[in-house]
Amino acid sequence: MADHTGKRGSKRAVKRIDTSSIKTTTLLSFVIFALFLVMILWGLSNFYLNSFYERARSQEVMRTAETLESQFRQDRYNFGPLALQTAASNDLYIRIDTAEDNFIFDGTREVQGSDAFENDVNRIKEKLASSASGNVSETRRDNSGMGSRLVYASYITASGVDNILCIIAPLYPDQVTIRILRDMLIYVSFIVLIVSLLLAFALSVRLTSPIEKLTRSAQELSKGNHDVYFDGAGFTETKELAKALNKASYEMEKTDFYQREIIANVSHDLKTPLTMIRSYAEKIIDITGDNPEKRNADLNVIISETEHLNRLVTDMLSVSNLQSNNIELRMETFDLVEAARSVYESFLALATSEGFEIHFHPCKPAYVVGDRTRMTQVMTNFVSNAVKYSGDNKYIEIRLSKTSKKVTFHCIDHGMGIPSDEIGHVWDKYYRTSANHERGIEGTGLGLAIVKGILNLHGAKYGVESEEGKGSDFWFEMETVRKPSAEDTEKKDG
Ligand code: ADP
Repeated sequence: MADHTGKRGSKRAVKRIDTSSIKTTTLLSFVIFALFLVMILWGLSNFYLNSFYERARSQEVMRTAETLESQFRQDRYNFGPLALQTAASNDLYIRIDTAEDNFIFDGTREVQGSDAFENDVNRIKEKLASSASGNVSETRRDNSGMGSRLVYASYITASGVDNILCIIAPLYPDQVTIRILRDMLIYVSFIVLIVSLLLAFALSVRLTSPIEKLTRSAQELSKGNHDVYFDGAGFTETKELAKALNKASYEMEKTDFYQREIIANVSHDLKTPLTMIRSYAEKIIDITGDNPEKRNADLNVIISETEHLNRLVTDMLSVSNLQSNNIELRMETFDLVEAARSVYESFLALATSEGFEIHFHPCKPAYVVGDRTRMTQVMTNFVSNAVKYSGDNKYIEIRLSKTSKKVTFHCIDHGMGIPSDEIGHVWDKYYRTSANHERGIEGTGLGLAIVKGILNLHGAKYGVESEEGKGSDFWFEMETVRKPSAEDTEKKDG
């Protein structure tokens, strides 16, 4: 039993270490960096300490030699105290051989004659004698118990006489120094490791805390809570991410709202004619069935409602076909101005009966390549919307303008216009602005979605400029082509 729980506990512990998390990665990187640093320090101290020391010592010997040489030249009688002091403070053996005598300064005293370094001195003097330059040096590593040392010699020519300066410097740091250095290195290694662990921990907490906050908010959002606020405080990148997420959350909330609206509207649009059909059918059974006149009137209502339903369902199918690209265009070259004129003429009867004032401003013929029927549907939808949403101002303009390569169609009304925060949605399927719901204007919210699908298939640019209460200008623009020649038309017909 104990074993069983133990296993589960260890499993959980293993699970908690996520090697791809920012925390673990930062921690590991810092530990690896610290270990690398410590290894370099240890490597340098073990393998290069001696050569560093040797180089530093030989530079020091050269500098000392220069000072001593110039002192000797300037004032040879005061050379002794300087040499003695230099030997003592730098742990050096200094010897000067003049024509008459030799003087040895070994750090504690000044002596004359020979001593333990006599061999070294003789060897370097020979080397100096055979060398062309004024100074020589060599490193002596022997097992005589004296340890390795740097031996230096140079001529000091004063008053035409060659004197010889010899300096011997013990080369390796003594064991105490080495031990102190090692101890220091151990402390430094510990400090580096602990500091990097602390730094890594602090950094990973600082890095992950805004991300964790964002994740928590995103989880809330995924549960459908749109009131969450994304807070990316800390870093510019997380702030940017939070800003983008806040925007996405706002858009999602809006889409959610519109989707609910759409379902409500579509169900309403479908339900109204169905209720009418049902109630009129019942009326015929119960009341008007025997009265041919009343029965026909009721049947006409039923027919008109089924037509409405039919239109709605046809539009729905068109939109879904357009969206899935399941539509075949019958491309031809035609004059868009001519097609626009036929649309205008089809509305003339309505204009007269309903009191609309529709003005047509054509431009020169403008040939485009497209599906004439579908493009006619686009223009018809624009004009019928202008009629539907023009309110009391029944003045509508259909305007065409042409440049060398493009033709633009405008349908301008002076009606209710579109609120600026809704203008981006009018091309969405089933979308109807809030105002026309209040006014109970009939519609499916599919007309402009169909227009958008057709214009996209034609690669045309389109848009709307509108101001609430002032009216709207729906437009599209197509590339023009050369007028087809009679030959082209014949070929096509043939
Ligand atoms: P509908 O069947 O509702 O007219 P559309 O897709 O043709 O559907 O239009 C979508 C919505 O865009 C309309 O419900 C209306 O709110 C708005 N709209 C379209 N044309 C105009 C216009 N000329 N003036 C004002 N609002 C318009």
